[in-house]
Formats: sequence, C-alpha cells, structure tokens
Amino acid sequence: MVAKEKAALAKLWEALERREHVHQAHPRLAELEEQVSVALRNYTAGQGSRQAVEEARTKRGAYLKEHGLPPDYAEPRWACQNCQDEGYVNGRPCACLQQAELRSIISNSGLPPKLRAQTFARFELKWYQEHIMTPVGISERRCAIEALALGQKFVATVLEGQARTGLFVSGDPGLGKTFLLSAICNSLLAARVPTLYVVFCDLIAAIKETFNAESGGNSESRIMAAAREAKVLVLDDLGAEQVTDFVINRLFDIVNFRCNHQLPLVVSSNLKVQEIGRLYDDRIASRLWEMCEVVPLYGEDIRIQQKRQG
Ligand SMILES: [Zn+2]
Repeated sequence: MVAKEKAALAKLWEALERREHVHQAHPRLAELEEQVSVALRNYTAGQGSRQAVEEARTKRGAYLKEHGLPPDYAEPRWACQNCQDEGYVNGRPCACLQQAELRSIISNSGLPPKLRAQTFARFELKWYQEHIMTPVGISERRCAIEALALGQKFVATVLEGQARTGLFVSGDPGLGKTFLLSAICNSLLAARVPTLYVVFCDLIAAIKETFNAESGGNSESRIMAAAREAKVLVLDDLGAEQVTDFVINRLFDIVNFRCNHQLPLVVSSNLKVQEIGRLYDDRIASRLWEMCEVVPLYGEDIRIQQKRQG
C-alpha cells in the first residue's frame, strides 16, 4: 500500500474512533444518529418519507448545537478538505499539491507557523502615529492605513485573476512589513492560491545548497523555475543578504521573467527601490518600478514600542 493510501486510511480510522468516543459520552446522540440512518434506509427503500429524514436530521442537529458539538464531529480531519488529501480534484492537481511541491523544492519556503496568525484583521494601526508626518506628506497612521488597503486590494485582484503587478513594501526594520506580507499570503492560501513565500536569503541559500553533491536531486533550475513561475511570489526581506554577482543575476532573472509574463510579485525590503538600483542593478530597479506599487511604511520599530509598554 502506498504511503498516501495508508495516511488516508489512518484519517478514516481516526474519525471512526472519534465518533465512538463522542457516542460513549453522548449515548443520546448515538440514538439520534441511528434514527437518521434508519430514516434514510427507509426512504431509499421507498418505505419512508423524505420528511422523516429531515426531522431526524433536525433532531440530531439540535442535540449537537445544544451540546456544543461541531456538525462534522465524526468526519475525517483532512489537511485539505478540497481534495480530501488526494492531491487531485476531477483529475486536476489540487492547489494543496502545488503548494506542497513548492515547499519541497525550496527548503525553508512557506510561511513559518509564527506568521500564520498574522492576518489583515490583526494588523494594528495603533503603532503608527496619527500626528507624526512622513516624508510623503501624510501621517504615519495614514501611510499604514493605505498599506493595509493596498495589501487587501492586491489579494482581491489576484482572486479576480486580474493581478498583473505587485507591491514593493519598504520601510525600516520592525514596521510591520513581514506582517503585511504574511497577511497577504494567509489570505491567498485560504483562497487556495498557490503562493510561494520565501525570505530572499533563504532562496539564495537553497540555490547554493544544490551545488552540494548531497542536495537530494534538487537542481538550481528547478528552484529558479519555481520562483519565476509561482502563481504569486512573495519575497521577504530583500537586501539583507550579501550582494554578489551571483545574487544579482538570480534576482534579475526572477524579476525580469515575472515582469515579462505579468506574474504578480510582492517584495519587502529595508531599502528603497532607488537603493536597490544602486546596490544591485538599475535593470532590477526599473523592472520593480514597472511592476510594483510602492508601499512605504514609516514609524518607530514596533518591537521597541511593545517593549516599552511592557
Ligand atoms: Zn487539496
């Protein structure tokens, strides 16, 4: 038996055991479940009414609600409800499979657990001051409000299949850039859009790792293809790595490909686009200008503010 089938069976057994468990604690629920199956059996055998089935289901539903049990208490807990962990829906690869492939190609890609809780709803504007003006002529708070709105708009255009461009989120460390990127990723992943999130220096490290003889069959071209072609690419913390010709060439390759193919790209950096031009290559900066809306964040390092508040 292949590992995947074993895993699926394990989930089914687990669901059965869970059902048993709940029924031991709630014998009345077991009775109500039995009534539902009897009503269903009668109905399909042409002996009962549809109404009897509905009534039995309503009684069961009321019991579940009254005892705070979820309606799917006896259902298998699939990691992906869409394909029930099969990886395919109607013969086509499920988004979860594409997502898993991305993760297997680039180690350390994908949102780390800590970032999975960072959603648009949890983005706190209170850390950005209303009365402090920024060099772009609006307050820190207004800047953050606009950044949040642009992030949400970006997700909406991706979901509509309209995203041809992306965002360049820039600002000093500790201003919520990664938070904004995580919120974008979390929304896209919830909507089953295969999204490649990777910290730029991890991407470079993953490429260099393939030069090692024991890289497990992963190749540079495979990694580069994943970064070039991912439905959405989210590159966190560009500019934190050592700038070498090697790094510049890979970055240009990715940005240029995505620009030419109108594939959305979200970048965060402590640098401004002009500085990217100076430090890396003007051609990279010009592509970024072309394909990204600049989203600046200003303020005081949020971690320092949090520490001060204790
Ligand atoms: Zn799936």
